[in-house]
Amino acid sequence: MNAQKKVVLASNNPHKLRELRELLKPLSLDLVSQSHWNIQSVEETGSTFVENSLIKARHASAHTGLPSIADDSGLVVPSLNGDPGIRSARYAGDHADANLNNHLLLHRLYEKNDSERDARAYFCAVLVYIDSVNDPMPEISIGTWHGQIVRSSRGSNGFGYDPLFKPDGMSLTAAELEPATKNKQSHRARASQEFVERLKTRLGN
Ligand code: IMP
Repeated sequence: MNAQKKVVLASNNPHKLRELRELLKPLSLDLVSQSHWNIQSVEETGSTFVENSLIKARHASAHTGLPSIADDSGLVVPSLNGDPGIRSARYAGDHADANLNNHLLLHRLYEKNDSERDARAYFCAVLVYIDSVNDPMPEISIGTWHGQIVRSSRGSNGFGYDPLFKPDGMSLTAAELEPATKNKQSHRARASQEFVERLKTRLGN
């Protein structure tokens, strides 16, 4: 049997490690969190999800000499010039929680114009893989999930902006959906399906 390829996950979040191990199971990788090497988070200085994923992946590869995988995700509201965007986790401030972020989002939409309160929005998830810190050809997969922002929070499943996001074609918000339903169609599911296919080709399994 082939030894599993060791790849560092550029995150210190144990939930993310568990989630990505599950999503990337078909690749049979030995996915190890960067916390195993005590690698601190790097400052995300890019202005796009793709740039920030690559910054994180390079940081993890530079410290370990290993191939790495990183992700980045967030909510994009075009009528707010793309906000919360790459600052989705910290939209209402560095120590903001989901409630404060959601509150600020509704406030910003309200400030703009009542008719824009059912604003279009989409979640975006990016996954990147690099062989080494200087890999000139990263694998990059992007998944999006389109919908609308509703006028008040609904539902208690999920996390982040889920209570305000109603996916197209559904009457429920993402936080009212069964987790299994969300996990089949979300931005992360879409990005990871494509990512698995790309890496199967790249790594030859
Ligand atoms: P990160 O990719 O873990 O840094 O997450 C970025 C932020 O985007 C999260 O903290 C959430 O605020 C938001 N976000 C990303 N994906 C989702 C989702 O599936 N539901 C709700 N919020 C999300």
